[in-house]
Amino acid sequence: MTSLSGETIADDITGRLADVRCRIADAAKAAKREAASVALIAVSKTFSADEIRPALAAGQRVFGENRVQEAQGKWPALRVEFPDLKLHLIGPLQSNKAADAVRLFDAIHTIDRPKIARAVAEEMAKQPKRLELFVQVNTGEEPQKAGVMPADAKAFVAMCREALKLDIAGLMCIPPVEEEPAVHFAFLSKLARELGLKGLSMGMSGDYETAIAFGATHVRVGSAIFGGR
Ligand SMILES: *Cc1c(COP(=O)(O)O)cnc(C)c1O
Repeated sequence: MTSLSGETIADDITGRLADVRCRIADAAKAAKREAASVALIAVSKTFSADEIRPALAAGQRVFGENRVQEAQGKWPALRVEFPDLKLHLIGPLQSNKAADAVRLFDAIHTIDRPKIARAVAEEMAKQPKRLELFVQVNTGEEPQKAGVMPADAKAFVAMCREALKLDIAGLMCIPPVEEEPAVHFAFLSKLARELGLKGLSMGMSGDYETAIAFGATHVRVGSAIFGGR
């Protein structure tokens, strides 16, 4: 008998996904919000198509990947089977990958500099295809982390809207690991409100319930569904 059979792994993923959905519904209710106002992005980076399938079988249709190349390797085949699935790019984008990213993804959460915004705008016009776009804000002002600095966020969003005619859906952040995420979620939520943006991509496995309390419209949950990476 083997304890790590494909079936056991599939059951684990199905069970954890159901648990995350329950917790999202409870957190939304506690915040007096509709559960449907929170989109669950199942972050499947590093996991294979076989590990993704149980989530698809359980009705999950929105997935997140952080690398264009890795996503290209596993999603085109799954898309043929599940044409209604939506793919979100949640990792940093290089401008030489903009064409591939626009072709493969339905949303990009990591618009954070003029060069990327311009490359994505040009590709969307060329293909043509419209993606849901989020501006990543480096709320912790961490030098090694991607995202526009908080002080530059308003001017950057204005540039995207005015110069590039981009329809920005919202803001995204990844709080510093050692800090209280609520402070960052509150900050991002206020900034989005000031900019008239409805979308808030925030909250991961460890803090998505807190993010929902602060208005998250998109939570990006990986390990709580698929297990440790
Ligand atoms: C990996 C990743 C996640 C998911 O992280 P978990 O802690 O596994 O839920 C969310 N957002 C981004 C940007 C990621 O890279």
